[in-house]
Amino acid sequence: MRHTSITHEFVEYIPGELAEAVLYVSITYRTAVHRCACGCGNKVVTPISPADWQLFYDGETVSLTPSIGNWGFHCRSHYWVTSNQVQWSGTWTDKRIAAGRTRDDWDRQQYFAGRKAAAHEPETAETIDADGRSPLAWLRKLLRR
Ligand SMILES: [Zn+2]
Repeated sequence: MRHTSITHEFVEYIPGELAEAVLYVSITYRTAVHRCACGCGNKVVTPISPADWQLFYDGETVSLTPSIGNWGFHCRSHYWVTSNQVQWSGTWTDKRIAAGRTRDDWDRQQYFAGRKAAAHEPETAETIDADGRSPLAWLRKLLRR
């Protein structure tokens, strides 16, 4: 049976036995775990990081973003957890799943590109040793002989 709401529980360790319709949140391990909201019993692990899921806690309810797409499960359920409510999406076709995955990859690339830009890392860099020679200089010298 599909759940339409979920409660949350802040824990340090995710318990071995998970109750239905409970989102276990471990801030320590930056992970949330729950049983698939469709009732299939599968364990859904959502790592919490800028590149994975973001968890919002308003003091009473939690939300996870982006949506949860359980493509790896037989149920292929797809839903959002917003303010402890489970909002269901239609079952995704393979094509839409592929499109969703592409978007996820793109989001990740944007995230890492953003981090790279923030760190002012040059696109390429040739390391220089203490004598001011590039590691390749000795090779070039060797090859010229
Ligand atoms: Zn399921």
